[in-house]
Amino acid sequence: MSEQQQHGFSTRAVHAGYEPDPQTGAVNVPIYASSTFAQDGVGGMRNGFEYARTGNPTRRPLEANLAALEGGSYGRAFASGMAATDCLLRSALRPGDHLVIPNDAYGGTFRLIDKVFTQWGIEYTPAAVSDVDAVRAAIRPNTKLVWVETPTNPLLNIGDIEALSAVAHEAGAKIVVDNTFASPYLQQPLALGADIALHSTTKYIGGHSDVVGGALVTNDEELDTAFAFLQNGAGAVPGPFDAYLTMRGIKTLALRMERHSDNAEKIVELLTGHAAVSQVIYPGLESHPGHAVAAKQMRRFGGMISVRLSGGKQAALDFCSRTEIFTLAESLGGVESLIEHPGAMTHASTAGSALEVPEDLVRLSVGIEDAEDLLADVAQALR
Ligand code: PLP
Repeated sequence: MSEQQQHGFSTRAVHAGYEPDPQTGAVNVPIYASSTFAQDGVGGMRNGFEYARTGNPTRRPLEANLAALEGGSYGRAFASGMAATDCLLRSALRPGDHLVIPNDAYGGTFRLIDKVFTQWGIEYTPAAVSDVDAVRAAIRPNTKLVWVETPTNPLLNIGDIEALSAVAHEAGAKIVVDNTFASPYLQQPLALGADIALHSTTKYIGGHSDVVGGALVTNDEELDTAFAFLQNGAGAVPGPFDAYLTMRGIKTLALRMERHSDNAEKIVELLTGHAAVSQVIYPGLESHPGHAVAAKQMRRFGGMISVRLSGGKQAALDFCSRTEIFTLAESLGGVESLIEHPGAMTHASTAGSALEVPEDLVRLSVGIEDAEDLLADVAQALR
């Protein structure tokens, strides 16, 4: 374990991957807006930099930082979470291979697998990540990858990462955990046995709704070599400004996640038992079927809440359009609170499939504003 990996989470978040520039003392990573790098004689690259798709001195510290946050040896940054997903699928699977996916996977992940990868001979089976036996039963002789999201988007189901890793490994398959909803502050899949941690860094890691990005972190050198090959070969890389913004966001990740969790817990209290609400879905609730597993593998329960409205679809749409501080928008994990209707927005691509989400469902991404203001906003919108 490197010295940096022994430091606490916040110290790693602030420092891992970058030391003040020896020439200028700049305490923040400079934005190296250069697509190419001078060579000292043919092949004489300085610190391995040759061309910015292959490597960029702003992106490299971000990748080292992401690896340190997840407790992994290798980190790769991408232009989006979907670019990271695409890279992983193409690295881990070949035509004729099969993967198991969550039966409530993020809509974009499902769409990419269902609409694109099936055309290239990949087969998939949806299974509930909360049901280890169902995941085991979905595995076939040609299963090469088990895809886990926990908590899932948007139903906040919880998968037991340790148990699911054992199931995948028994079958000779790799297991990836999409750790976007938890963030590496709340949950570290590699330490629980997963082979790969995947992120949409657009969300909590970036944290300010100002940059789109993705990441893959692993301890598996062979996998990382495949990721690096495709990252360069296909080229879905973040630009240096994106890499800088992501690193800037990471520095406050621990503080933000504590506040997101504090605020979410208060809103859950308000929603629980509210006449307009038929179900509150939050892994921190003891009534949540995944509560015990979440308590075992997560530091806290995060800032995402899903609710079902007693008045059905129209009540859900009305709730989404009446909030004033919660902005009606897709995405999540930023400092500002957001509200959305998954069925009509983020998860519209699952309509008519086994992954379709309930129409009375509303998803809240609770921000870091003052709790009293958020509570008043939710109360008035539900009135
Ligand atoms: N994984 C999850 C759980 C997500 O919520 C998202 C986006 O919402 C993605 C992956 C895709 O990430 P991106 O939008 O950065 O491509």
